[in-house]
This record gives sequence, C-alpha cells and structure tokens, in this order.
Amino acid sequence: MQNFDFDLFVIGGGSGGVRAARMAAQRGARVGLAEVAEMGGTCVNLGCIPKKLYSYAAHFAESFEESHGFGWVGEAPLLNWETLKTNRAREISRLNGIYLQLLKSSGVQVINGWATLVDAHTVDIAGQRHSAKNILIATGGKPSIPEFPGSAHVISSNEMFDLSPFPQRLLVVGGGYIACEFASIFNGLGSEVTQLYRGHQVLRGFDEEVRGFIAGEMVKSGITLHLNTDVAAIERTADGLQVQLHDGSLVTVDSVLYATGRVPLVAGLGLEAAGVAQNAAGAIQVNDQYQTSVPSIYAVGDVTARVQLTPVALGEAMVVVDALFGPPEGKAPRAMSYDFIPTAVFTHPNIGTVGYSEREASEKFGKISVYKSDFKSLKHTLSGSTERTLMKLIVEDATDRVVGLHMVGADAGEIVQGFAVAMKAGATKAIFDSTIGIHPTMAEEFVTMREPVKH
Ligand code: FAD
Ligand code: NDP
Repeated sequence: MQNFDFDLFVIGGGSGGVRAARMAAQRGARVGLAEVAEMGGTCVNLGCIPKKLYSYAAHFAESFEESHGFGWVGEAPLLNWETLKTNRAREISRLNGIYLQLLKSSGVQVINGWATLVDAHTVDIAGQRHSAKNILIATGGKPSIPEFPGSAHVISSNEMFDLSPFPQRLLVVGGGYIACEFASIFNGLGSEVTQLYRGHQVLRGFDEEVRGFIAGEMVKSGITLHLNTDVAAIERTADGLQVQLHDGSLVTVDSVLYATGRVPLVAGLGLEAAGVAQNAAGAIQVNDQYQTSVPSIYAVGDVTARVQLTPVALGEAMVVVDALFGPPEGKAPRAMSYDFIPTAVFTHPNIGTVGYSEREASEKFGKISVYKSDFKSLKHTLSGSTERTLMKLIVEDATDRVVGLHMVGADAGEIVQGFAVAMKAGATKAIFDSTIGIHPTMAEEFVTMREPVKH
C-alpha cells in the first residue's frame, strides 16, 4: 500500500477548508492545508465579517438622527473613514491569527503558498510536492466583472474595504446580495449612492413582495435606484468617472463598484492535470458526498457554485470529514440538506428569509395561504423615521406547514434564525398560533398573524 505524507490535504484556508482541516485533525487524521493569502478566506478577509462591521458603522447614521425624537440633542458626530478602516483591519488581523492558531493547535500542518494539483494524490506548492490519500479543494470564488468600454475603471467588493479616499459619490452596479448590501452601507456611511440593475427589480430569486419592499426602503433611505438599465461605457474626466447608461443618461461618480456575481476560483489549480471535471461555468462537479470525478479528490464551498454562503461551506466540510474519518463517537454521519437554508441580506433594513417565496410555494405546493403584516415599528413612533417593516408567512394548505417566512426590518437576520429551526422541524401554522409572543417585539408578529391575506 502506498504511503502518503498526509491523510487529507486541504487547498484553501477559507470557511470550508479551515473547518474540514481542523475537524479531520481532531479525529486523528494527518492533515496539511495550503493557503496563499491570509487565513480565513473570503468571509473573514473580504466578505461577511468586514462587511458586517461596516454595516454596524453605517447604522449609526440613522441612530444619531432617530435619537432626537427620544430627547437627545446635539449634532451627529462625523465619520472618520480612516479610523474605521484601521479598526476593521486590526480586528481582521486578530481573526487571521485565531484561525491560524486553531489549525496549528489541532495539529494541522499549514503551508503558505499557491497549491496546484499534480495528480489524484499529489499537490505542488512552490516546487515542493506533498502526497495525500485524499485532497479537498476549497478554493472559493472571485468577483466576475463583464468587459465593456471603460471597465478598467471599475472595482469589485474586494477593493471597497480599503478604498481611498472615501467615495463621496458611488455607483453600484448589480442587484444581488453584494450590490444591495454595499449600496446600503455606503449610503449610511455618507456617500451619495446610485444603484443600477439591469432587471425589473433587485434581488432576483427572493419573494416578489420582499424585493419591492426593500427597494422602496432603500430609496426612502436616500439611494437612487435605476432599474432596467445597464452601463454602456465609462470615461475618466476631470470631475470623476463619467458613466454612460444604456438609457442614455449620464452619472458622474468617484467610484464604480461592480457586484455582478462571483465565479469559482479554479484557474491555475491543475484540475485538468488531475482530471477533475467542471461544469460549463467552471464549477467543480461533485456528488452528494462532495466527491469529484476523481474519487480521492473532494470539493466544497463556493468553488462548487451551489449555495455561496459560509454556513453552507461549513456544513459541506463536515459531511466530507464524517465521510472520510467517521462521525464523532455516538453520532450518525452528517448529511447536508439544501432545504430551508435561512439567509439574510444586510441591507438597511435587513432582509431575513427562510423557505419558499410565494411564487415558488404556489408552484410547488399548489394551494397555499399567505399571511402578511406591514407596519411601522414601535421604535419609529418616536424616532421620526418613516421606515416600515414587512413580515410574511406562507403556509401549505394541505399540511398547514409553514413553508416560507420572510421579513424586511431591523435585525431580520437575528429574528429569522430562530424561526428557521422551527421550520426545519416542520412547524405548522397551528404551532405558530399556539406559540406565546414576546411583547413588545417585532418578532411576535410572526406568531400573531390570524387572517390570511391570500387563500
Ligand atoms: P473562501 O472563504 O473564499 O476560501 C478560499 C480560500 O482559498 C481563500 O483564502 C483563497 O486565498 C484560498 N485559495 C484559493 N486558491 C488557492 C490555491 N490554489 N492555493 C492556496 N490557496 C488558495 N456569506 C454568508 O454566509 N454571510 C455573509 O454575510 C456573506 N457576506 C459576503 C460578503 C461579500 C462581500 C462576499 C464576497 C461574500 C460574502 N459571503 C457571505 C459569502 C462567503 O464569504 C462565502 O460563501 C464563503 O467564504 C465560501 O467559503 P469557501 O471555503 O468556499 O471559500
Ligand atoms: P449575486 O449572484 O447575488 O448577484 C449578482 C447580480 O449581478 C445580479 O443582480 C445579476 O443580475 C447581476 N449581474 C450579473 N451579471 C451581470 C452583468 N454582466 N451585467 C450587469 N449585471 C449583472 O452575486 P453577488 O456578487 O452579489 O454575491 C455573490 C454571492 O455571495 C451571493 O450570491 C451570495 O451567495 C454571497 N453573499 C452572501 C451574502 C449574505 O449572506 N448576506 C452577502 C454577500 C454575498 P441578474 O439577477 O439579472 O442575473
């Protein structure tokens, strides 16, 4: 039998890679991990964490304004962008160190550098070859920006965190998670934000009413939203970047953020040499156990382009570890279910959602009932804010099961997480109705909706 240097070699120290390496090492496996950049991957360095920190920063703007209605007097403080950037960078460095420490203390051998597959059991890092019984590819993704006249002037979310100087006028192109979140964040931080989306409404795939509602709230908060148009060309002028739109209008801004999706990071990985199959979009193809077309090579997370969320990459990594090294004692091997994955969009206000949109539910389940509440929260009776909250439940008539739960409102991400547990457990509308509310909260609306608005 062949002797390998490692039982498992992980390529990529992001969400999926770190989780798999650490858990495998804790089960006694000999594990190596290659990372070319800082430890923690997209989520820690250029995604969820710095984004959420900036979202917190941006929320202060509305808090300062709203405080007057509660009796606070005085001018709002000014944002020092340099301080925010420095403090964010310090926190991210701390997290990089924690991730590295967690790996090392679990016994993972960490190698800095770009890893390339040589064959089904070998990786090469800067000319050094390492053999492994199994290899896990967890290389994530990267921003995808279309080419057009002047596209060299645009930046991706990767560059937004350290932008200098602060963009007083920002154009955001795209209507997905990143576009909507960054439009909200930079609007809150003080930029004059214009968002451009080629379709009829932002956030394709979300519940139709949620899409319209958040777009309305974003516009109320000061974002200029152009729908059904796209960028034709960009030119640098003395006054900034002059952006010509397909509808004939011109917008002049300091920075243009393209948030037009992300593609799997596979170039230069040696997939062809090892014979790992990809789909037409470049994503690595895997089976239910995340095994690629080469049985000894696995892949998880964004590089497989299924659901690009950190908790999904973590869940997939655990399935691989259980499959290769067995589950923790007394537990069954974990399986990954893509049903009822809760998600939040950290717009201002947040969107929180789990399960099916109204349209998907009616296509899948036939007869459904829809419950809805659209209200001004107690906080805003004094704050002076015109922000409204939307909460919506979708129930399958045949089973009474709640199959969709959607919210646009403050802390929707926090609120929806708990309801996701109930929905995974198959909670019915009758169970929601028999649940006692917590008063006074916004969340209690989900257990007090009595009459359907559609049946
Ligand atoms: P990554 O975390 O991207 O890790 C891949 C790692 O592999 C990287 O560190 C990379 O340097 C390394 N690497 C790549 N190729 C090689 C190689 N050949 N050799 C060595 N190292 C290599 N998700 C959420 O759930 N919530 C959020 O709020 C959220 N916000 C986001 C905000 C933004 C702006 C972005 C861009 C993403 C956000 N995401 C969010 C998505 C989330 O970050 C990803 O789904 C998650 O990081 C995917 O994890 P991964 O392990 O697949 O890859
Ligand atoms: P998304 O896929 O969410 O959105 C991409 C947007 O860009 C869509 O509106 C799309 O339009 C538009 N688009 C695509 N190509 C073009 C083009 N050539 N010209 C103009 N517009 C275009 O991707 P993001 O980049 O926003 O985010 C990537 C992923 O990262 C997300 O899907 C999500 O999984 C994850 N993420 C999660 C977050 C969270 O959990 N809070 C936050 C940020 C990211 P159309 O809809 O018409 O195709």
